[in-house]
Amino acid sequence: MKTVAKLFLVGISACLLIIYIVTMPSGSSVLISLKPTIEPKTDFIFPQNVNDHNVVHQNVLKMESPENYNKHIAGNKDMPQTEEELYHDPYLKVKYRVDQTIVSTFDAQEYIKNSAHDSDPMKLNSFDQSQSDKIGSFRQIIDSRHYSCAARAEDWSNLPSSSIIMTFYNEARSALLRSVVSVLKRTPSHLLTDIVLVDDCSDDPDTGRLLKGLDPKIKVLRNIERQGLVRSRIYGALNAAGEVLTFLDSHIECNVDWLQPLLFQLTQKPRGIVSPVIDPIKAENLEYRVASSNIKGGFTWALHFTWVSLTEQDNQKRTKDSDPIVTPMIAGGLFSIEKKWFFESGGYDMNMDIWGGENFEISFKNWMCGGYLYIMPCSRVGHIFRKKHPYTFPDGNGRTYSKNTKLVAEIWMDDYKELFYQNRASARYSEVGDVSSRRELRERLQCNDFQWYLDNVYPELEIPEHKYVTISFNNWCLDSFGKTEYEVGLYKCHDKGGNQSWQINKSKSVVSQDDLCLTIRNKILVMKPCHNGNMHQQFEHDEDLETLYNSYNDVCVNVLNFKSRVVGVGRCNQDGVSTRWQITKV
Ligand code: UDP
Ligand code: MN
Repeated sequence: MKTVAKLFLVGISACLLIIYIVTMPSGSSVLISLKPTIEPKTDFIFPQNVNDHNVVHQNVLKMESPENYNKHIAGNKDMPQTEEELYHDPYLKVKYRVDQTIVSTFDAQEYIKNSAHDSDPMKLNSFDQSQSDKIGSFRQIIDSRHYSCAARAEDWSNLPSSSIIMTFYNEARSALLRSVVSVLKRTPSHLLTDIVLVDDCSDDPDTGRLLKGLDPKIKVLRNIERQGLVRSRIYGALNAAGEVLTFLDSHIECNVDWLQPLLFQLTQKPRGIVSPVIDPIKAENLEYRVASSNIKGGFTWALHFTWVSLTEQDNQKRTKDSDPIVTPMIAGGLFSIEKKWFFESGGYDMNMDIWGGENFEISFKNWMCGGYLYIMPCSRVGHIFRKKHPYTFPDGNGRTYSKNTKLVAEIWMDDYKELFYQNRASARYSEVGDVSSRRELRERLQCNDFQWYLDNVYPELEIPEHKYVTISFNNWCLDSFGKTEYEVGLYKCHDKGGNQSWQINKSKSVVSQDDLCLTIRNKILVMKPCHNGNMHQQFEHDEDLETLYNSYNDVCVNVLNFKSRVVGVGRCNQDGVSTRWQITKV
């Protein structure tokens, strides 16, 4: 499609959205049918430590104090003892209770029965829907917190109240219902202002609409056109009554006292984002597992989200298991934020479509613009992690992810956006439209730059070196002549790369071609296999003096005899004796 036409369409949809937000009475709807096809979910790295989850499962149970744990089980009459009981739903077909008061006669069984189904239970949701239906609207789950968390209840006397915002698109009814019921049952009523469900134009409008009958705190909004999760969450946020906004996915189960630690942290430090530890619920059998609380969110340069281990420095800063985990990135689906700060800091980038990228934007923005991101170990919420998206992307999955992440790179990553493009080449050609208003937001909030973020928030992130360079002097280029253990020299620059193209790895100060490194041998320079820690292979490029300096021998790479093109090592000083090299990216 032509750019102009596309811009026009984007404009029109934005207007429609705004008009819709202002005028749409909740519940009314226009149905647009979408062909359900399944796209591979290529843009989400399944938690690297997913196996750790299993390992840690045992560790966490071991860490629990046994008396405490037994007491918990004994004191909880609902606690299932057998597998059958675990999946028996005491709330099916009975009056549904909230806070000991009967408020509804919602028929969960009937509601779930009328969900869309397929003979393949994995087909519509990428998790086992029949298993989900069997579990029904509620189940007991293991209290997965570290046992020391229970002692923190005294912190919780003066907390703000929160709205829950849950957007969904063609969600399995049993999973959506269980998500909502777990909020109702495991959140103290006085901390819960409302639950805002945003139906992102699902095929069946009743899935959301019927839930209104479950509890007076539930509001149901519906998009007249599919918007994706970013614009849907904004729509929800605009209609939320709470002082705090808590965003949740539509296939989660809140654990015991999950909200209080999040709210408590926001009372200590209002401008920031707090996330629970996300316990994985297995897509294949809906088993609730206990996640490690020793991981934080990170990313690759292609802007893939990953889970990473805490560093030694991270651990040193924490004294108790209940201390917040400082994280460079949030997974994105589950978090709390003060409503005031959410909107002051620009909400989300409304240009992002369907799914993906928004967690980078909100994470970079919070760190760079005076906020923070913490994971609160004493807050636990289960989430069904799935291996592929069950829904369509109107523009295609890859293209949408490229566009969304390009918006992040262009607005927040300064020169580091080059690394993003090197790792996600398709994004160079994505059309992202006008980014000026988001850049203005960054100006207005007087944000730090991306280098600050890397230095202060994610110092352990490996920064791959800028690709290839030529190293030249008077248009004569440093050349390896393609040989090992052979004297390097000068050759007329030919712009063809090859033996004249070099990599300078800044962190390790190595000048290399493939696995061979520039190496000092007596007074000359030769190419030798790179060895970590070989001090004769370490050169620092001084950008001001334009020198290549080896501190171990205290020498510089110099042109020893220009006429005969001889290069070697020699004196290094600031008065122009050492060679000034021109380093040019190729
Ligand atoms: N979602 C939505 N509209 C969309 C895509 C997703 O409302 O076009 C919702 C989805 O139902 C879910 C949330 O956004 O509640 C996050 O999506 P998903 O769970 O697929 O992402 P994941 O957890 O796999 O990253
Ligand atoms: Mn999800």
